[in-house]
Amino acid sequence: RTAIRIGIVGYGNLGRGVEAAVARNSDMAVAGIYTRRDPAQIEPMGAGVPVHAMDSLPGHKGGIDVLVLCGGSKDDLPRQSPELAAHFSLVDSFDTHARIPEHFAAVDAAAQAGRTTALISAGWDPGMFSINRVMGEALLPDGATYTFWGKGLSQGHSDAVRRVPGVAGGVQYTIPVDEAVAQVRSGLRPALTTREKHRRECFVVLEAGADASAVRKTIVTMPHYFDEYDTTVHFIGAEELAREHGAMPHGGFVIRSGNTSQENKQVIEYRLQLDSNPEFTSSVLVAYARAVHRMQQAGQWGCKTVFDVAPGLLSPRSAAELRAQLL
Ligand code: NDP
Repeated sequence: RTAIRIGIVGYGNLGRGVEAAVARNSDMAVAGIYTRRDPAQIEPMGAGVPVHAMDSLPGHKGGIDVLVLCGGSKDDLPRQSPELAAHFSLVDSFDTHARIPEHFAAVDAAAQAGRTTALISAGWDPGMFSINRVMGEALLPDGATYTFWGKGLSQGHSDAVRRVPGVAGGVQYTIPVDEAVAQVRSGLRPALTTREKHRRECFVVLEAGADASAVRKTIVTMPHYFDEYDTTVHFIGAEELAREHGAMPHGGFVIRSGNTSQENKQVIEYRLQLDSNPEFTSSVLVAYARAVHRMQQAGQWGCKTVFDVAPGLLSPRSAAELRAQLL
């Protein structure tokens, strides 16, 4: 059997993560990396992995089974996913939750017309967390679902901190509030406000001469990002920022608690603790690329989400092997 040929579209954090993940799956191979930048400037991690300009992609159609799209959710995927789904089966990690229905509609129209299989919004949230929210609700209809994120580095909030006048650099961590998590785990089904569920912690390097108290105030009162949370701001030096805060850890948990009778509480918990958010996300995308390839071959065309994929399709093992070994 020949390997599933993966095309990587965009070579940022996820693009590198996909390359690393494919290397750990013996039934797959990277056919090529595609970038909007000058391909000569991109250095793939693996020796012999070809890097091409984006506009050569249509000409390589016969050599690729599934594209894994690694562009940003804000500006790249809303354009790239529908465009490419007309010609290729693909997986993306679109994570703007409020826009998923319109993204689905655009990708579905293209994939139906092109007879491709295009799976959107894979990853961990949306993705693995979404599956656990659905299972929790279905198994315990009389209950409540809670999603906690962190402790983890939030890219969006870190960007917001770095845009504050007087800030030379910085990062932001989202942290679940311990008491809230404990209440949820006990099965009490508490009603929690935004402030009660998560807190935020910022590590900031000031520009020379900047006013620390003014910077702190601008951060903690920033609408949409910080005003609804308890936020701590620590001022540190540039070396400490580089040394201690260069990684991209993340994670969190989805908890469903419910009752199956008056006296019996049931609690389900799914937890992720990730040293590298992009490497884990990429590993999920690659497993879904395998499923997408199988669904395309079975004639299951159109746009799909993680809710539409049977778990066995994610595994490199056959259905018979899975029944014998993992059931
Ligand atoms: P990056 O910013 O690292 O990369 C996004 C794109 O930007 C790349 O595909 C690349 O395209 C371009 N790019 C990367 N580096 C550079 C550079 N130095 N100069 C110019 N352009 C560059 O984003 P991530 O890979 O970290 O994340 C991508 C998306 O994944 C996020 O927007 C997020 O929405 C989503 N995500 C989803 C998760 C989930 O659980 N569902 C979890 C984590 C992320 P090109 O090569 O064409 O220039």
